[in-house]
Amino acid sequence: MIRLNLGAEPAELETERATRLPLAITAFNSHGPGAKQLTNLLDQGYQVARPTLRDRQHGKCAFCEKQEDAFKRPVEHFRPKKGAQDKQGGSWITVKTHYWWLTWTWENLYFACDRCNMSGNKGSRFPIQASTNRIAAPSQPSPNPVAPVHYDCTPEQALLVDPRRDNPFDHLQWTPVNRNEPWRLWQWTIEGRDAKGDMTIEVLALTERVDEVNLHIKGIMLLWEQIDSHITAGRLANAMAAWDSMITNFVDNPRQPYRNAAWWALLYLCPPAERIRHGLRDPTLPEVR
Ligand SMILES: [Zn+2]
Repeated sequence: MIRLNLGAEPAELETERATRLPLAITAFNSHGPGAKQLTNLLDQGYQVARPTLRDRQHGKCAFCEKQEDAFKRPVEHFRPKKGAQDKQGGSWITVKTHYWWLTWTWENLYFACDRCNMSGNKGSRFPIQASTNRIAAPSQPSPNPVAPVHYDCTPEQALLVDPRRDNPFDHLQWTPVNRNEPWRLWQWTIEGRDAKGDMTIEVLALTERVDEVNLHIKGIMLLWEQIDSHITAGRLANAMAAWDSMITNFVDNPRQPYRNAAWWALLYLCPPAERIRHGLRDPTLPEVR
């Protein structure tokens, strides 16, 4: 996962929200959260954001960074629209009151792969830190429009990394499974750097991408082998040029999958102290700007 700066919402989404949110508020006021009269409305309209999301995310899943085609891939609601599942005492409990009013909110929408979005992986799961509160749900009856306080998600201590708000590198890392082995034998895995990272890996089942990411990193390791042999032979200019081109292709290129994993792989293959010795530059943290 990398940071995603996705810009302003497309006008089509604003148009859909202007029509559909008032209908949802009316249904909520008459029937309450979880009622069919409300949930039926929540499946409509937000799909207009899919082409914009897909373009700005360069065709990649917001969570696992797999390159996906546009057809039948869902628009994912980061905060689920038909009841949020919270992990309490090892079980997933549904909180029916959240987050129907964010169904057409741009900042809550991502292009995601079927696997990350499916029920049993992320689905409606949206855990928060134990002993903290969710943002307040509108009370019944709600004024129309819904008060701004219900859209301010900053106080909520979510246990899922949000690619728009968080720096995924603070929470998730790819590491060699066994660093004591020679680097040519390294297999790679994803690890949480804190509780939020651990929960994100669990909810999105990110370890299911490990085989694919290992294949991808294999390409980096083959290039590193060439760079390493340039260094050993004293051909530092060749090493620097090959290192530069590897960064450009695997870390900086917005269309590449698994840019987070590529950045970590370079960190372990050639740590900063070694880079300084050989005149190799540090890659910047990949993100979508
Ligand atoms: Zn995915």
